[in-house]
Amino acid sequence: MSPADQSGGLPPELLPPGYRIVTVAQPVPHPIGDGTQPARDDTSRGRAAGAGAVGFMATLLALAAKFKGALLLLLNLKWILIAGKLLLSSGSLILSIWLWSTIFGWPFATGFVLLIFVHEMGHVIALYVRGIKASVPIFIPFFGALVALREMPPNARIEAEIAIAGPLLGTAGAAVCHIIGLRGGGQIWYALASAGYFINLFNLLPVIPLDGGRVVAALSPKLWVVGLVGALAFALLRPGPGIAFIAVMIALSWQRIAAAFHPATATDPYYQVPSRERVVIAVAYFGLAALAAVGWHAAAVAAGSQ
Ligand SMILES: [Zn+2]
Repeated sequence: MSPADQSGGLPPELLPPGYRIVTVAQPVPHPIGDGTQPARDDTSRGRAAGAGAVGFMATLLALAAKFKGALLLLLNLKWILIAGKLLLSSGSLILSIWLWSTIFGWPFATGFVLLIFVHEMGHVIALYVRGIKASVPIFIPFFGALVALREMPPNARIEAEIAIAGPLLGTAGAAVCHIIGLRGGGQIWYALASAGYFINLFNLLPVIPLDGGRVVAALSPKLWVVGLVGALAFALLRPGPGIAFIAVMIALSWQRIAAAFHPATATDPYYQVPSRERVVIAVAYFGLAALAAVGWHAAAVAAGSQ
């Protein structure tokens, strides 16, 4: 597993290993030796000095060529990949803002997509800390964003940790908007806070692949049924493209959801979490959900009353 994959495309972590590999793989160009050797064999001093200068230049040129080769390789392989990933991520972010702005206007659309970004960064940081391979955040217009895991976390406890990091940072982001609103920032900050609390609360629905589902997997995968009912209720109350997309995502996780009731899952080492850690996860999960719900209500009331 390379650090590039671990970091989800964070450039500073990539340079040392990538650079080393490229330098070793690139042989020293032969012209260095070939160019300088004949000049030293020459008996004439003047010519030797001239040839020395030429040799020095050749060495410099060869070094430059070597470096350029290494640099180009570095650019071609790693950096084009990283640049592509970052372009995909930032491009999808900008596209999302633009499409949302057609409905809500630029200020709200920008704030809203940035709140989603803050949520995703919670996952990215947790994934980076745990060294789990994942994609860069990809923003899906009118849905939200996601970070796709390229490998399963080692156990349900770490999966829960990575999952809750998103709503944790995302709810904190919504709280910052809420505080700005309380300090007289204007109605838009309450509207952003309300939307921010809501998306994080929604993501805490206890069904995979939503964050809440990944958190409660450490408590009991059977809780996914509660999330399924919740998602279904939401789909009936607020039908739209967003919930349709989530329905597809849940359907894609169907095998794992169905396996929750398989007797083998109960003894699966993946789901064996010490009870002390289960308590911490439960307190964090229900506490965060309660906080987001209370915040959502308060911000929505404040946004409506102005
Ligand atoms: Zn999330």
